[in-house]
Amino acid sequence: MQQESKKPLISSLLSVVLTLAGLVLVVAAALNWDASSWAERVWFVAFAMTFVIRVPYSARNRKNKIAESRSGAVEQWLLAAMFLAMMLLPMLHLAGRVFTFADYHLPDWAAAVGALLQLPYLWLFWRAHADLGRNWSPGLELREDHTLVTGGVYAHMRHPMYAAIWLGAIAQPLLIQNWIAGFLVIPAFAAMCLIRIPREEAMMKKRFGDAYDVYMAQSGAIIPSFHRHSRTL
Ligand code: SAH
Repeated sequence: MQQESKKPLISSLLSVVLTLAGLVLVVAAALNWDASSWAERVWFVAFAMTFVIRVPYSARNRKNKIAESRSGAVEQWLLAAMFLAMMLLPMLHLAGRVFTFADYHLPDWAAAVGALLQLPYLWLFWRAHADLGRNWSPGLELREDHTLVTGGVYAHMRHPMYAAIWLGAIAQPLLIQNWIAGFLVIPAFAAMCLIRIPREEAMMKKRFGDAYDVYMAQSGAIIPSFHRHSRTL
């Protein structure tokens, strides 16, 4: 029998409550559009786009059975921290200006850099989902019939989705100029990457053995490698 994700009731309840709170905040932030700066509006539109990209893959992959899960407590906490720093806190601020005491001010060119970063962010986020296809999971999981993807954007780097999220994470404090609603995502995602990437690579290495070693030798982790790319995979 495959292993279904056995979430404890409390964590399922928490997910539902957080999702509902998130939805209410998105509506409240949209209603508070006039109070937002142009840079914050850019962030909001890009935020909506990430859902447009992700939801179809999420819905499609729900049917794919999980064969192995390593999403333990640490994973859940890391995902919760990201949810807070990348979604809930910025929405709370856009909806009610609650963290005004922690505002900082950057020149317009910095906000423009943040706005421009949304383009490679969304493009790479979309390509990573498209190339990973049915193998994608939000957590550390292997699907039944999981295949090792080494093509598309994965030919150059092993973690294009995390690279994309880095672009979004760097843009966020440039667009939302606030230590809590904007900047906090940087340490949150740094912690996530430091803890998750070695675990993910160990899981992939255990499952795919030598093929993953060859892939590691030919690809970058988060920074793409072009010169080492070979067609032998
Ligand atoms: N780290 C990758 C994938 C993030 S999604 C990225 O940043 O693009 C996380 C899930 O993707 C993992 O649980 C694993 O099951 C799967 N995965 C990661 N790399 C993969 C690869 N090269 N081929 C197939 N599945 C992969």
